Amino acid sequence: MADKSQIEWTDATWNPIRGCSRVSEGCRHCYAETVAQRFSGPGQPYEGLIAKGGQWNGEVVVVDHKLDEPCRWTRPRRIFVNSMSDLFHESVPFEVVAGIFGIMAAASWHTFQVLTKRPERAREFFEWMDNHHERRHFDTQRLNAQHPGCDWRPFFLADIASRILPNCGAGLRVELKGEWPLDNVWLGVSVEDQAAADARISHLLNTPAAVRFVSAEPLLGVVEMTQVSNTAALAEGQPWINALGGYAWDCTGPDYVDTCSIGSRLDWVIVGGESGKQARPMHPEWARKLRDQCAAGDVPFLFKQWGEWLPDNQNPSISGPSGDTQAIRVGKKAAGRLLDGKLHDEYPEVAHG
Ligand code: SF4
Repeated sequence: MADKSQIEWTDATWNPIRGCSRVSEGCRHCYAETVAQRFSGPGQPYEGLIAKGGQWNGEVVVVDHKLDEPCRWTRPRRIFVNSMSDLFHESVPFEVVAGIFGIMAAASWHTFQVLTKRPERAREFFEWMDNHHERRHFDTQRLNAQHPGCDWRPFFLADIASRILPNCGAGLRVELKGEWPLDNVWLGVSVEDQAAADARISHLLNTPAAVRFVSAEPLLGVVEMTQVSNTAALAEGQPWINALGGYAWDCTGPDYVDTCSIGSRLDWVIVGGESGKQARPMHPEWARKLRDQCAAGDVPFLFKQWGEWLPDNQNPSISGPSGDTQAIRVGKKAAGRLLDGKLHDEYPEVAHG
């Protein structure tokens, strides 16, 4: 547990799941994997989760004694869920995902930040829930009589949580609201380059969430948020999405005017360079482009860190959209978090409270 986090955009981390496997270039120097390697010996927390070569082996375990942690934290805080794993990893059963969402629904005084590289599975989870055979017990007159005007889903999720929690959640402080989507859960995708943006962002925009965000860290290339692939087929015949504007569009016409609203857009963008021993430098133009796109789209922007490298006149060179630049390794702390001399520390505006 980390009741206090060093991560700039959160207050605490909550890791009820351990274990993962790599999915894309952004995972190459996975921080969680490095930590897990160190503590994977017999009797240690990550035993059985790391392969011989030092990578995650794809096994995932639920950490029972961590499940109810947020319910025991009485002071409201922003909580990064599974900073050391991925809640939507294919080895996490949907019943477990539902239980974790149930805990988030019950601990409604907190704000939970769920970040994934598997948004297509997040979508599947919400579809699974809507088609669940038990939904009729919740989506009925009984619920309506007891909790008029409430959505059945938070009650369904809390019920599953009580089954997976030690002592069925007895003695926990519970403040369940009947709102959907849960107003205290933010859902985000990690995006390191355009390929990841194309594969992930439209799925996120097609999933119920009070706040949708992108964490572009480690940023490894140019990302054009106003033109990502419509992989989730949010609008028929429209191959592109402007994720900051909330519309799909077709670029075959002369003026790109063939747009249609998709009913959702990104509420927040975080940018950061890579840290750690083998960190790769971030070209300043990659960060600037995202900053400028967010400013034009009126989307809150948070520049988290440069990472280990700062742009400089020394080697190694990195290629960017407007030519090569140089970077020098100064360490994460010294590199800081100013972009062109300015602190960018914006957060989404939310009504939750
Ligand atoms: S998804 Fe996250 S935790 Fe899993 S391997 Fe990739 S970076 Fe590591």
